Amino acid sequence: MARAEPVIGVDLGTTNSVVALVLDGEVHVVPDEDGHNTQCSMVAFLEDGSVVVGNSAKREAIIDPRNTVFSAKRLIGRHFDSREVQGAISSLPYRVVKGRNQAPQVEIRGERFGLPEISGMVLRRMKDIAERYLKQPVHKAVVTVPANFDDTQRQMTKLAGELADLEVLRVINEPTAAALAYGYGRDVDAKLAVYDFGGGTFDITLLQVQGTMFEVLATAGDTFLGGDDFDDRLARYMLLAFKQQHGVELTDVTGVNRLKHVAEKLKRELSRKDRAIVNVRELARSETGSHLDLRFQLDRAGFEERCQDIVQRSFLVCDDALRDAKLTASELDGVVLVGGSTRIPLVRRMVEGYFDQPPFVDLNPDEVVAIGAAIQGAALMADAFAEDAPPQPLLLDVTPMSLGVQTVGGYYEVLIQRNTAVPCEQSRVFTTTSDNQTSVRLRIYQGESRAVADNTWLGEVELFGLRPAPRGEVQVEVTFEIDPDGLVMVTARDRETGVEQAARIDLAAGYTPGEIDRMMARSRRGAP
Ligand code: AMP
Repeated sequence: MARAEPVIGVDLGTTNSVVALVLDGEVHVVPDEDGHNTQCSMVAFLEDGSVVVGNSAKREAIIDPRNTVFSAKRLIGRHFDSREVQGAISSLPYRVVKGRNQAPQVEIRGERFGLPEISGMVLRRMKDIAERYLKQPVHKAVVTVPANFDDTQRQMTKLAGELADLEVLRVINEPTAAALAYGYGRDVDAKLAVYDFGGGTFDITLLQVQGTMFEVLATAGDTFLGGDDFDDRLARYMLLAFKQQHGVELTDVTGVNRLKHVAEKLKRELSRKDRAIVNVRELARSETGSHLDLRFQLDRAGFEERCQDIVQRSFLVCDDALRDAKLTASELDGVVLVGGSTRIPLVRRMVEGYFDQPPFVDLNPDEVVAIGAAIQGAALMADAFAEDAPPQPLLLDVTPMSLGVQTVGGYYEVLIQRNTAVPCEQSRVFTTTSDNQTSVRLRIYQGESRAVADNTWLGEVELFGLRPAPRGEVQVEVTFEIDPDGLVMVTARDRETGVEQAARIDLAAGYTPGEIDRMMARSRRGAP
């Protein structure tokens, strides 16, 4: 029998990406040509016009930070003016500019790239790794996204897949993928927590697993909490030590950047060892021109004391999720760890304390999400009627943020509450607010604040041709729909005439078909 077409599962991470696939019923995490299972999610644009993607780009990030893009996931699908993008820009060494429709773009050597293009290059690299391993072309993928990714971020991730010549069969949430990796095929009946502490974000998801059904009960996250916080904290201590040693303040951007890299290494070393020493040579120059080095040492206890509050912040988010799910920590049957920062012994200890049980550690926290994506991919391609067909997992997710519309006076009316199971649909009838009003414009937001301005604008739908009448007479029915990929569709319908206007909310950071063609052509060339 011919083997089903391969589907790769890709964990497209902020810092690292991983590709996995199912071969003859077994999940393989696919290594690159050097035997590495993870790839840096980095794209380096070299002076000669060539592009280097993945682990080989890491060296460039140190020697040529302005022309090496990393952390694209922190920017993709967001508004340029958002707190997240502005926060990211202040710490990213490459140039980020405002593109059309508020979308951030990176500007490298005078050329602008959309974030989906950058993520597309990373996905293409993952596809290449899988093709080399399989010795056959790959066209299909399941790609994971954080549970709190909104509609635009999901759309842009899908677009990144297209730009890599991949048909994205499904976009699934990272925690759900992690739960699949643990629970699929084991016939468990359990309540699981997926504790995901990555490089830039923290997420907690609570799921009920029953056989092949994976139901998300609640999810919560903090987009400003991650491994970077440990690095920044350690880098700050190093700066202080440098000042104490030499009596000078280090202000130069390259020097500070180098310290952050060193801090990250030191942090990792302290996950393995009790004590670590770093020597940073020629970090700066004195007034007389001589080189100034930094020698810094730290033991694990010192690290833990300095960073405990960072881990503690993750539990405030866990409290929220437990409250939403109406559960207590001790009612959970297991805790799955995801993300590089869960390798920190302090994190594991504190997680064990909070949940009152040791977390599962048998799967690699870097690989568990890609494994789940590969399992979902294989199930989607399996011939459901074949005798040996694996049972289809049923993923029941929830929407991470409330969705609603702007109402009079700058208020926000929620149509779909956060943590509602998806797919879902919700309608509400609005009436005109002024006399002879012949059109309505619905401004769509997501977020939890009563004041619309504090929420994130997703897009808008306009309905024309209403009958002129006194205010309050004409009724418009608004329907929000969220599909299994978490994508939102909004429809506004004139109840009198039945005239409808629908929009996928991809307006905010959307690209025109022409722009997509141009990006596609550029991505196939593989070089700017
Ligand atoms: P992720 O986004 O899941 O790839 O996680 C990346 C984060 O995990 C980065 O902040 C890394 O510095 C951190 N990380 C990876 N390995 C370790 C380790 N052994 N100890 C501490 N942090 C780590």
